[in-house]
Amino acid sequence: GKVLVTGANGFIAVWVVKTLLEQGFAVRGTVRSESKAAHLRETFASYGDKLEIVIVEDITKEGAFDEAVKGVDAIEHTASPFHFKAVEPDELIVPAVHGTTGILQSALKFGTAVKRVVVTSSCAAVLTLSTEPRVFSETDWNEGSVQEVREQGAQATAPAKYRASKTLAERAAWAFVEEHKGKIPWDLVVLNPPFVFGPVIHGVDSAEGLNESAREWYLKVVKGEVDNDTLANVGSSYVDVRDLALAHALALTKPEAGGERIIVSASAYKWQDWVSAAHRLEPKLPAGNTAYDPSKATHLFQYAPEKERRLLGVPFRTLEQTTKDILDDFKARGWL
Ligand code: NDP
Repeated sequence: GKVLVTGANGFIAVWVVKTLLEQGFAVRGTVRSESKAAHLRETFASYGDKLEIVIVEDITKEGAFDEAVKGVDAIEHTASPFHFKAVEPDELIVPAVHGTTGILQSALKFGTAVKRVVVTSSCAAVLTLSTEPRVFSETDWNEGSVQEVREQGAQATAPAKYRASKTLAERAAWAFVEEHKGKIPWDLVVLNPPFVFGPVIHGVDSAEGLNESAREWYLKVVKGEVDNDTLANVGSSYVDVRDLALAHALALTKPEAGGERIIVSASAYKWQDWVSAAHRLEPKLPAGNTAYDPSKATHLFQYAPEKERRLLGVPFRTLEQTTKDILDDFKARGWL
C-alpha cells in the first residue's frame, strides 16, 4: 500500500517515513518547499520510486491536500507547528486546526482508496496542569490551555498556546469524523505522545536548529543550561522517536486501533534522569544535580499504559538506550 505522510521532513515524520519504507510501504511525503525535499530524497535514495515527495505550500488553504491524497491507501498527518515563539495563538492554532480538517476534507473528497487516517496529536491535548501527581488516560482532555488562550490571547503562556493548538486540532478531527459518520470509508486513529526524544535523521545543520523537543534535550543535557532545582523537580513523560514511529506504522495496520485515541508513552522522567544517564556514558558531560534521588521523585505527568499495550504493544526502549543513541548521533555530528 501507499501512505501519505504530511510534514514529511519533520523530526518525527522522517522516522515514520523510514519505518514505513522498511516495512515495505510506498510513501508519498508532503513538504512545504523544494529545499525541504532534497534531504528526504537523499536519505531514502535506495528506495527509488517507493518514495515520492510532493510540495504542499500552505496547508491552511482550502483543498491544499486534494491532489496529495489521490491514490493513497492511508494517511499519517504529522504536519503542525511545534514551537514556543508564537505571539498570537492563531499562529499555531490556524495551521494545526485547518491542516487537520483540511486533510480530512481532502480525504473525504478525493481519497477514494484511503482506509485509515492517523493523526499525530499530543499529550498536550490530554494533560491538565496540576501540583499533584496524576495519571492521565485517553478520557482526559486539556481544557485548561484552551480556556487560558481564550481568556488571555497573546498574553497566554507559550506552552498554553501550543497545547491549545493541539487540543483544538484533535477535537476538530474527532468532530469531523462524527459529522461525516456513515459517509467516510476510512476510520481515524489519533496518537498522543508526550515529549519525543531520540537521534535525528531529518535535515538539520546545527544543534540550535534542532526541533523543539530535541533542542531542549540538547540544551539541558549536553550544554547544561538548567539549574539544579529544575533538574531534580521538573520533568514529564517521554517516548523515543523510533518507538513513536513504530506506533505510527502499527496504527495503520492494527484493525482494533480504528476509532481510538491512543497515548504512546514510555515512562516518566525528571531532567536529572537524562543528565545522569548521559554523564555515565560520557563523563565529560555535566553531572548535574548529584543530590537527586530518583526513588524520591514524584511525577506530575504520568500516562496510563494499558490502551497502548492492548492495541499497539510497542516494545519501548529504555531511557539509557535512548540516551546512548542520542549521544552517538550528536557525537557523529560533532555536537558533543
Ligand atoms: P518538527 O518541527 O520537526 O516538524 C513539524 C512538521 O510540521 C514539519 O514538517 C513542519 O514543516 C510542519 N509544519 C510546522 N508548521 C507548519 C505550518 N504552519 N504549515 C505547514 N507545515 C507546518 O516537529 P516534530 O516532528 O516534533 O512534530 C511533529 C508532530 O508531532 C507535530 O504534530 C507535533 O505537534 C507532534 N508532537 C511532537 C512532540 C515532540 O516532543 N517533538 C510531542 C507530541 C506531539 P517545516 O519544516 O516546513 O516547518
